[in-house]
Amino acid sequence: MMARRERLLGPNNATFYDNPVHFVRGEGVWLYDADGRRYLDAYNNVAHVGHCHPRVVEAISRQAGTLNTHSRYLHDNVLDYAERLTSTFHRDLSTALFTCTGSEANDVALRMARAITGNHGVIVTDFTYHGNTSAVIELATLLPREDGFSTHLRTIPAPDSYHLERGEKDESDMASRVLTHLEAAIESLQVAGHGVSAMLLCPIFANEGFPNLPPGFQDRMAKMVRKAGGIIIADEVQPGFGRTGGAMWGHQLTGFTPDIVTMGKPMGNGHPIGGVVTTSEIMHAFRTKNLYFNTFGSNPVSCAAGLAVLDVLEEENLVENAAKVGAYSKKKLKRLAKKHSFMGDVRGAGLFFGVEFIRPTRRLTADHKLAKRATNLMRENGVVMGLIGRKKNLFKIRPPMPFSRSNADYLFEVMDHVMTRI
Ligand code: PMP
Repeated sequence: MMARRERLLGPNNATFYDNPVHFVRGEGVWLYDADGRRYLDAYNNVAHVGHCHPRVVEAISRQAGTLNTHSRYLHDNVLDYAERLTSTFHRDLSTALFTCTGSEANDVALRMARAITGNHGVIVTDFTYHGNTSAVIELATLLPREDGFSTHLRTIPAPDSYHLERGEKDESDMASRVLTHLEAAIESLQVAGHGVSAMLLCPIFANEGFPNLPPGFQDRMAKMVRKAGGIIIADEVQPGFGRTGGAMWGHQLTGFTPDIVTMGKPMGNGHPIGGVVTTSEIMHAFRTKNLYFNTFGSNPVSCAAGLAVLDVLEEENLVENAAKVGAYSKKKLKRLAKKHSFMGDVRGAGLFFGVEFIRPTRRLTADHKLAKRATNLMRENGVVMGLIGRKKNLFKIRPPMPFSRSNADYLFEVMDHVMTRI
């Protein structure tokens, strides 16, 4: 299959693991490979309410068997979905635009920012990913690529609460340094004549390695950007839809209100739907200056999938589950990290958490090789998970939301076995 993949799809098509896995079926938090072997899914946030959730499958197939067109005809589903979705936000964030992917959502958000501010400059962290359109890939400091950066982009250091710089005592010192860089980026964009259109950030800095941050950090960033005439775009592709427990959206958890919110991955439980939620003022500025049309975005089937996901989240109390099982899991992971000297900082929120792999002899030296070996061994032992962070030495544990305490017990039993072997 690997040879066929390369022949048909070209080289450099990423797969997870040294020994790629071939799944043929999923159910809840479980995945099954072609040999019928069962794996615990501790990674996938697309199957947000569980793989092949019958409620979502039924909603998709019922609507697909009734009507599927595009957004130039009237349909209740798009209105019902926009109403339900925006009701989960601050009342000012009251309008929605739908796309098929998170990349498109961020692409449109950047256009909205230009429309409302009249500026072009964009600020992101220096270790992130926001998607793959021509405009958005330029912001992806995390992936190797050939094309350079446009002159209207500025990066600031990604916050990192574990690997502090010389002279920094704690995360507050680190946060102050990042804010100083933000100030410099704003000034540089203004001097260059681009002005500040937007800062695009993930509210929990997930790709950067979800650092611990002092309260109010993101809000301080937002205030600085707004003072310079720009707006804040929160990329909720990863923390959104209750992932972090305690709040439906990452920005609500971290205490700031963005001007635009973008979303994707978990929205349709695997059905491709993305979206942008913003104020009516921004939507109005964008829509009057541009005629935006997206053939597949907001079709009746996609909206049926989105509505079913919101139903399941509510009916099965999955946001609360993320908070409870997340806290339980973090406690267990901390215990495990005490036992194995090469496991360092444990952090995260809700069902999005992880642990750093470090060299035991030099406490804070990231150990990517070991983390990679551990991830491969977890896969061989029937648990799928990933790696994240600037040094790619951080376990990324982000299971479907119905993940239970007994699933967590199983995960840490396997992890203890793997770590002992290491
Ligand atoms: N933003 C973030 C933070 C992401 O992680 C991703 C996908 N990994 C995207 C945007 C892009 O989403 P999509 O792949 O649906 O275009």
